[in-house]
Amino acid sequence: MSAGIITSAYIAASVLFILSLGGLSNQETARRGNLFGILGMAIAIVATIFNPGVGNYALIIILMVSGGGIGALVAARVQMTAMPQLVALLHSFVGLAAVLVGFGTFLDPTVEYFDIEKTIHSIEIYLGVLIGAVTFTGSVIAFGKLQGIINSRPLTIPGRHLINIAIGLACLWFGWQFISMAGLDAGVSPLIIATVLALIFGAHMVLAIGGADMPVVISMLNSYSGWAAAATGFMLANDLLIVTGALVGSSGAILSYIMCRAMNRRFLAVILGGFGESVSSSSSTTSDQQVISISHDESAQLLREADSVVIVPGYGMAVAHAQHPVSELTKILRNNNTDVRFAIHPVAGRMPGHMNVLLAEAKVPYDIVLEMDEINDDLPETDVVLVIGANDIVNPSAQEDPDGPIAGMPVLEVWKSNATIVLKRSMATGYAGVDNPLFHRDKTKMLFGDAKDSIEKVLAALK
Ligand code: NDP
Repeated sequence: MSAGIITSAYIAASVLFILSLGGLSNQETARRGNLFGILGMAIAIVATIFNPGVGNYALIIILMVSGGGIGALVAARVQMTAMPQLVALLHSFVGLAAVLVGFGTFLDPTVEYFDIEKTIHSIEIYLGVLIGAVTFTGSVIAFGKLQGIINSRPLTIPGRHLINIAIGLACLWFGWQFISMAGLDAGVSPLIIATVLALIFGAHMVLAIGGADMPVVISMLNSYSGWAAAATGFMLANDLLIVTGALVGSSGAILSYIMCRAMNRRFLAVILGGFGESVSSSSSTTSDQQVISISHDESAQLLREADSVVIVPGYGMAVAHAQHPVSELTKILRNNNTDVRFAIHPVAGRMPGHMNVLLAEAKVPYDIVLEMDEINDDLPETDVVLVIGANDIVNPSAQEDPDGPIAGMPVLEVWKSNATIVLKRSMATGYAGVDNPLFHRDKTKMLFGDAKDSIEKVLAALK
């Protein structure tokens, strides 16, 4: 393939990636966005494989078929609730790839740079390896926290900020050593030491972040994986990888900013960690209090009499696969002339847009699915709020307990409505591990059980 055709293919792929990001920003155009992304990636892979500098096709085909096969199998089998872990794992691969490409490029005996070019190339390698190593261990720890293998509470070892600063300074020192040393043998030791330090830093950074702040971590690691890919692009002198990495890196950074705003956190404070370490002062008081249970028939009766209903879905709806019966319930209530709307908290579920994806899958009309800011003010005038497997995002202690782990996080103020029905299986806490005083409020009724099962029973009572 000629250089001109490859450049044109790369430009076409870049445009398709930008169209893909544009499409993914809206539920109605998300499918189209995905198709653009797939097409762009297919063009990018073909153009890269037929690049004149690429050889050893047998090995490439074996690796692509086995890697692609494993990927397809995992993607086909993964439960929707396990998607966030999978995404974290995939981010870790990008980080690991950047580290391996960095070492590979540095040790490649066929490539030699001199003077300023050597310095620039060394900086590219060093930064690429560092970002890749942080992304790798950070993403592995994020995977462990999302999978429940590692406790979601923040690990706050004494003097952790000093440790981070010491690692940062050491990386600067070894970076200087690496870049200024002439020979290959001389440079590899600082690179190895810095890699180990960056691996430790990545793990330590994510371990120190509390459960409630994990959404920011996920989008931040998404951003890091993009910058790691861009750094790999610089090392391999591949323009498309630089553009793609920069697109992922910057969109991840924007998402992190949006997540921080949604949770009323400062980005720096989140990555420095420690949120969620204090125990909520409400935890001891709420657990002894009474709750009011409600039956399926009584729930159906309340819904039948309501003029306005707001449904708040949370992670439990995903676990229960309750989205289809919830969609059915919406249809029945709307046929009964009830005004039904959905309230989506920005961090509901376990990944950005989690609830929107589930509701779209169950064919809930987009125009009744509203963001938190669009609907919070309407809650005091709402007859019934149905909280389906949500907990942290409707926790009043975010506003009422200034020392609690989720203090300051904006929440859906469901307790201001005329009646709130909470569907969950037990009195267990949500992901942030904070007791929820909502369950003990006078206007709150608890409908205990699996959310799908409960909604189906309410549906049966309504029909
Ligand atoms: P939570 O994790 O706070 O609560 C989910 C609730 O669902 C639990 O209390 C659980 O209670 C209930 N539940 C679980 N399974 C079922 C079931 N089968 N049927 C009925 N109920 C069930 O979820 P939220 O959506 O309210 O909040 C999201 C949390 O996750 C926030 O803390 C957020 O910061 C965090 N997070 C979000 C990410 C994102 O990007 N959106 C990423 C990472 C973390 P019980 O066991 O009693 O049934």
